[in-house]
Amino acid sequence: MDALSVYVVGAGPAGLFAARKIAAAGHQVTIFNRDVRPGGLAEYGIYPMKHHMKAGLRKQFAKILAMPNVEYFGNVALHCNGPLSCDSLRAWQPAAVVYAVGAQGTKKLGMPGEDASGVYSAKDFVYHYNGLPPFSSQDFSTGRRVAIVGMGNVMVDIARWLLIDQPGSKPDEVTVIARRGPFEVKFDEKEFDYVEQFLDRRAFRDELARVSDVVAAAGQDVGAVADSVFPWLKTEPAAPPPSRLSFRFLTSPIAIEPDSDGRIERLRVVDNLLIRQGEDTKARATDKESALPFDTLIFAIGDVADPTVGLPYGKNEYLSNTDPADPDRACYEVFDPATGSALPGNYLVGWARKASEGLVGKARFDAERGCEYVLKHLAQATQGVTPTAAEMLDELQIVNDSVVTKQEVERLFAAEARQAQALGVPEFKYPTNQEMLAAIHEGQEAHCAA
Ligand SMILES: Cc1cc2nc3c(=O)[nH]c(=O)nc-3n(C[C@H](O)[C@H](O)[C@H](O)COP(=O)(O)OP(=O)(O)OC[C@H]3O[C@@H](n4cnc5c(N)ncnc54)[C@H](O)[C@@H]3O)c2cc1C
Repeated sequence: MDALSVYVVGAGPAGLFAARKIAAAGHQVTIFNRDVRPGGLAEYGIYPMKHHMKAGLRKQFAKILAMPNVEYFGNVALHCNGPLSCDSLRAWQPAAVVYAVGAQGTKKLGMPGEDASGVYSAKDFVYHYNGLPPFSSQDFSTGRRVAIVGMGNVMVDIARWLLIDQPGSKPDEVTVIARRGPFEVKFDEKEFDYVEQFLDRRAFRDELARVSDVVAAAGQDVGAVADSVFPWLKTEPAAPPPSRLSFRFLTSPIAIEPDSDGRIERLRVVDNLLIRQGEDTKARATDKESALPFDTLIFAIGDVADPTVGLPYGKNEYLSNTDPADPDRACYEVFDPATGSALPGNYLVGWARKASEGLVGKARFDAERGCEYVLKHLAQATQGVTPTAAEMLDELQIVNDSVVTKQEVERLFAAEARQAQALGVPEFKYPTNQEMLAAIHEGQEAHCAA
């Protein structure tokens, strides 16, 4: 079998595990990644204090990058109007391109006031506290009364950050705003354990009483909440917590009212009904409005694909192919609206294929499954004359002289490990690209001098 040239765009878990599968089959893989460092949300999304999990993933990723037939170019983003675009990648004539760019677009509700200051998307907020440039250096100030919209694990991470680990003063109250009711929580119990001591039990019981009739109309009994979804109600914290965590169920935001400085002051909401639909439920808005005072609002309602990448785009997602004869294969193929069929040799994996879907294990599974079809394609594919890694780097550096190679990533990690040791902390990350690049170049000079 001839080794063919395959490009992987994105070096999060999906991109890296895709690269491993394709490289292990003997092909030459080149990864292009927006961020300087590889890892994606494993690096910049997973909660900062999950050191053990992050270290384990970094080790696996380092092994993938160390494969001799894997090249890495970091700090280079694919953009429809940029120097590196889908077309320019294809002009290099790889045998296949795997898009693993994650879900970098922001889901908007389209309501008035969404652009007020103090209103953030969870992804950006999480990128900020996890140290991803440029979010790491931007203003994500929070106030005394914070609302988080959404009831998944990301909400819990953000509440944990605000209530426990955020440096400086903590909010007086974090309120979770949920479209549906207490039985529709999406977070894992073990994640909520981190913040349960802040849960205001009395306010929670009052909230259950407020929604009990509406919930009962959907066949649910709030009397069962403590035995099923909120076991923490059966205990009381040993001491009164310094901040309160509360829930507002069956509530949908409809407008944000800013103060005279342009910062959110109130969130206008409507009450929802809960409608049973078979095994599931859905929320239906009523016209009963109220205004809740908040100075910070974080939307943790999932993300969407980034349309600026330049892939065929539908409603919030890249278009993937459909084929009733083989739906599993088709869902990994990029759909080309111009021909009405798959764009040959172009694949989607991970959160780029299905936004905000599951944990790292799922992204890995999805990438490896998708790559089975990539490998089948490669078994019959031919390719033109593709540039070597050095030629690609030369071309990329004409427009961006700070493209980072895998050797440079190793130097960065070594510099950061030295910093962590000097500071006596479990891990250290440079918060700006300039600092990362400076650390790489210092490492290079030291290496050359030795
Ligand atoms: C807040 C949060 C907490 C989480 N916590 C956990 C947890 O505790 N445990 C767990 O298992 N999972 C967790 N997850 C889920 C996990 O992070 C994802 O399942 C996984 O990272 C998805 O992988 P991916 O590679 O598809 O996307 P991503 O991880 O988003 O990777 C996308 C990659 O593409 C690159 N990229 C983006 N745009 C471009 C572009 N235009 N050009 C080139 N490159 C580009 C990015 O730089 C990035 O490297 C969490 C997710 C979030 C949001």
